[in-house]
Amino acid sequence: MAGSNTPAILLRRIEFGDFDLIVTLFTLAQGKTSAIAKSAKKSVRRFPGVLEPFSQLEVVLTQGKRKGMPVLQEASLENPFFKIRENIIKTAYASYWSEIIYLWMAEGEPHENLYRLTHHVLTELNRGEIPVEVLSILFQMRFLTIAGFRPNFEHCHACKTRLDQIRHRSVISDPSKGGIACPSCAGIAGDQLRISKGTLKQLAWTDNGDLERAARVRFTPLAITEGLAFLEAFVPYHIGKTPKSLKVLRAVRNTIHARKKRSHA
Ligand SMILES: [Zn+2]
Repeated sequence: MAGSNTPAILLRRIEFGDFDLIVTLFTLAQGKTSAIAKSAKKSVRRFPGVLEPFSQLEVVLTQGKRKGMPVLQEASLENPFFKIRENIIKTAYASYWSEIIYLWMAEGEPHENLYRLTHHVLTELNRGEIPVEVLSILFQMRFLTIAGFRPNFEHCHACKTRLDQIRHRSVISDPSKGGIACPSCAGIAGDQLRISKGTLKQLAWTDNGDLERAARVRFTPLAITEGLAFLEAFVPYHIGKTPKSLKVLRAVRNTIHARKKRSHA
């Protein structure tokens, strides 16, 4: 049976009947592809421990009968990224990124840039030299550009005053307008998300040049907090859904912060 060979990252897996799994893969060649992995639950010989979340695989897929779901014929492990799965905060971030991809991508549309980005952030997350928050900022900023939702930080969406001409230190996030508003235009609604101009500059740096360099942008603690708050509202708004894993990510992050505070007290 001739199949197509492609690198792939496992985005999610669900059980199907007593024996099978349905896996959703982000493949380099075909983009998001859901496929049935027959006997994957029972037979350890067929897919020995390879169909785990975030694993980087080399897969062989064949088209199912009568336009049915593609069938996963073979999967070999290129990188298990096991240091992600053994760490709760890394798992929470990787789950969030995977769900963004899962929700945004249509089946069967290749996205080579997004594949390379995803592979890069998972590799770095596994390696552990770059702070997880910085990787999440990098992933979300680049994702927004690739997906065509690049936020406009250049000027207030309403009065068009350029960012460096706005006299306030902070501006207001406005996902529905694709960017930011100056405080005069934003009015005084209660739950506005403020973001300082310094943070916006740091966010913009991650969107330029090669990935290695962008991940080495030094963020101030304020920029990390503000940047994550901004992006975790902006991205869900533009993909049209709030990833369930975002709630989990926030809960895990809060627990870890509370624990750190207690140990410093
Ligand atoms: Zn304005």
